[in-house]
Amino acid sequence: MFDAALVNKISELRARLIALRGPHHEAATATGGLPIYADLGGVLCVTPTGEVRAYDSDSFSVRTVEDPVWVEIALTRLASLDPALSAVAPTRPEDAGSCPACGATGVYWGGVCLRCLGRGWTSRDGR
Ligand SMILES: [Zn+2]
Repeated sequence: MFDAALVNKISELRARLIALRGPHHEAATATGGLPIYADLGGVLCVTPTGEVRAYDSDSFSVRTVEDPVWVEIALTRLASLDPALSAVAPTRPEDAGSCPACGATGVYWGGVCLRCLGRGWTSRDGR
């Protein structure tokens, strides 16, 4: 799914996070991915090959995330981490407008805006 440059960048960021024992480094180790979002439901991580996995720090379990909403949230957040990762961002349709719920920030009450899935924009059909 991801090209070599994306694989290398995600691997580099993940290795640095683990080495520094940064936030959610245990999720990075358990999932093989880069942690990009956390809430009470767990930690979302994206692997260097583009798979989205969730880590539950209570049960220490890992599962593959297939829900397209959470996959899009994961990729949107991944794209915002580093300009080298911007290619994974969802394509903004021409008819898209700023999200009225979050004011185009992608953040709502300190968490990801579920109206726009963190993109900051919504299209005419409401997605
Ligand atoms: Zn929004």
